[in-house]
Amino acid sequence: MSCLFCKIVSGEIPAKSVYEDADVFAFADINPQAPVHVLVIPRKHVASLAEAVDDAALLGTLMAAAGRIAAENGLAKGYRTVINTGADGGQTVEHLHVHLLGGRAMHWPPG
Ligand code: AMP
Ligand code: ZN
Repeated sequence: MSCLFCKIVSGEIPAKSVYEDADVFAFADINPQAPVHVLVIPRKHVASLAEAVDDAALLGTLMAAAGRIAAENGLAKGYRTVINTGADGGQTVEHLHVHLLGGRAMHWPPG
């Protein structure tokens, strides 16, 4: 398996774990864009949101985990969740991930 995030789930590549359960792994982004920048991913390999449209349960689990992690990390003033998909979406790692960004005011529209 050559997928970077699968290697993080397996422990082959180290990451700063933030939250783990049976289906979800969450860890600190290596290049944080906000004081809190966590990536919430499924343990199983799913390439992107485009590959996950038939698994609403998994998508719900990921988003619920992101919201819980936000609360546990004190983001009471709010936060942003982002899923980049494909080339136009700016996806660089081909394993579905929810960015959880917080700890500063976000801007809109995104670039
Ligand atoms: P995206 O551009 O939406 O595919 O996001 C990929 C994210 O993965 C970027 O924010 C990267 O900083 C992050 N990233 C890449 N390699 C690692 C790593 N080894 N550990 C943690 N985060 C990583
Ligand atoms: Zn993977």
